[in-house]
Amino acid sequence: MKNLSRDTLDFLSTDKQLFIGNEWTRAAGDEVFETVNPADGEVLCRVSLAGAFDVDSAVNAARTAYTDTVRGMSPGKRAALMHRLAELIKRDAAIFAEIECLDNGKPYKRALADVKAAIAHLQYYAGWADKIEASQIPVNDPSVLVYTRREALGVAALIVPWNFPLVMAIWKLAPALACGNCCILKPAQQTPLSAIYLAERVREAGFPSGMVQVLTGDGETGALLSHHHDINKVSFTGSTAVGKKILAASAASNLKKVSLELGGKSPNIIFGDADMKRVRESLVWACFFNSGQECTLGSRVYVEASRFDEVAEALAADARSLKMGPGLSNPDLGPLISAQQLERVRAYIRRGKDDATLLLGGEEPLEGLDDGYFVQPTVFAAHDQQAVIVQEEIFGPVVTLTPFSGEEELLAMANGTPYGLASAVWTQDISRAHRIAHDLQAGVVWINGYDMFHPAVPFGGYKESGIGREMGRSALDLYTQEKAVWVNL
Ligand code: NAP
Ligand code: MG
Repeated sequence: MKNLSRDTLDFLSTDKQLFIGNEWTRAAGDEVFETVNPADGEVLCRVSLAGAFDVDSAVNAARTAYTDTVRGMSPGKRAALMHRLAELIKRDAAIFAEIECLDNGKPYKRALADVKAAIAHLQYYAGWADKIEASQIPVNDPSVLVYTRREALGVAALIVPWNFPLVMAIWKLAPALACGNCCILKPAQQTPLSAIYLAERVREAGFPSGMVQVLTGDGETGALLSHHHDINKVSFTGSTAVGKKILAASAASNLKKVSLELGGKSPNIIFGDADMKRVRESLVWACFFNSGQECTLGSRVYVEASRFDEVAEALAADARSLKMGPGLSNPDLGPLISAQQLERVRAYIRRGKDDATLLLGGEEPLEGLDDGYFVQPTVFAAHDQQAVIVQEEIFGPVVTLTPFSGEEELLAMANGTPYGLASAVWTQDISRAHRIAHDLQAGVVWINGYDMFHPAVPFGGYKESGIGREMGRSALDLYTQEKAVWVNL
C-alpha cells in the first residue's frame, strides 16, 4: 500500500471551506457534509455545503471580477495565469493524485494519469487564449464595414461529476478561462477534495479575486446555480436526468447558455475479420475502465456471430484476472464511488439475471473488500435489445455481449438507444470501417481502438448524450458569444 505524503495528510487534517473571492469561508448556514473514501467507507474530511446565500456571494464576486478586472484583462495575461496554474499542478501532481485516489477510489497510477491529462488540457487552452479570432464580412456595399467579435459570456457555473473530478473540472475551466469568463466550479458531493486543492493553487498562481471560485455542496447547490439570474452559462457533465433539469432551469430563469455532457451506452463493435490480438488488448479496458464509471464506457459489445464464443471467453478470462482493491494499493480496478451507486449497480445486475444470461461476475461481496463499494467485472450475454441492462446506463463494471449478422442488423442495434456519446468499430476492411463510422449516431467513433482522447479533438454527444462539444476549437463556442458590428463608413 502506498504511503501518503506529509502534504496530503496535512491537507486532510482540516475541515474544508468555500472558495469565494480568493478567500476561504464557511457556509453562511454553517452546513457541512462528509466526504468518504469509497475503498473503506472512512470519512476523509468535513466540507462546507454552499446554500443560497453562498451562491449569491460567489456570483456577486464573479460579476464584480468580470466587470472590474477580467473583461479588460489581456489574452496574454490569461494565458500566463493558466500556464502558471498548469506548472503548479505539475509541481503538486503526486498530492493531487493521492487526494483523487482517496476521494474517488481510483488506482493511484490512474489518478496520476488524470493529473497529467488535466495539465495537458490547461496548456492546450492557454495556447488558445490569444488566438480567438473573429471575422470581417463583405456585405457588397463598400461604404459599410461589418466585423464580428467573439466575446466572453461573463459568469459561468461549471457543474462536474465524481468519476474524473479533476479532469472534468479542467475540461471546463480551461476553455472558460481562455475565453475570459469568471467561473464558479461546483464539484460533486462525493469528490470535492481535488477541486478544493485546485482552488488554493488558483490563488497561488495569482488569479485575481473572483475569477475562479469553488462552491462545494450538493445537488441543491447545483440547482441554485442553474436557476440563478446573474449567471450567463452553465456547463454540466453528469446524468441525462439532471442535464434535463438544468436545461429546464435555464428556460425558467434567464435563458443562460447551457452545454451538457451526459450519459452514454456506447456500442463497441467487433467484426469477424478484426485483428483479435488488438481487440483483446483493448476490450477488457473498454468494458471495465474506472470500474465502469465512465461516460464513454463500451458497455454494449457487439460481436459478429462467427467469433462470439471466442470473444466472450477471452473477455471473461481477462476480466477475471483484473485485480481489485483500494486505490493506494495500485490495483487494476478500485471501488464504486458510494454505497448508493453500489446498490444501484447491484439492482441492475439482479435485473440482468432475469433478462439475460450471466457469463461472469454477479453481485457476491468480495472477500477482504467488504467495507468498500466493490463490484466484480460482470458480463451478460444479451439477446433482447429492449432489456433494461442493454438500454440504461449502469455506470458500473457491467457489460452486455450480443452477437450480430450483417451490417443492417448491427446498425439497428448499435443505434437503438436514446444515447449517442461514443462508439467503436473493429475491422480490417477499410471501406466497412468508414461506412459504419458514418452511420453510427455518436459524437465519437474509434476505429480499431477505444477511449482515445486529445485536448484538440471535439467530444460530445448525439441524441440524449448532450448538447455542445467540449475540447478542441469547438469548446471556444461554448464559452463565447458572437457580436456583429456594422459601421456606416
Ligand atoms: P448527477 O446527479 O448527474 O451529478 C452530476 C453533478 O450534478 C454533481 O455535481 C451533482 O451534485 C450535480 N447535481 C445534482 N442534481 C442537480 C440539480 N438538480 N441541478 C444541478 N446540479 C445537480 O450524477 P450522479 O448522481 O452523481 O450519478 C448518477 C448517474 O449519472 C450515474 O449513474 C451515471 O449514469 C451518470 N453520470 C454520468 C457521468 C458522465 O460523465 N456522463 C458522470 C457521472 C455520472 P451532487 O453530486 O453534489 O449531488
Ligand atoms: Mg469521497
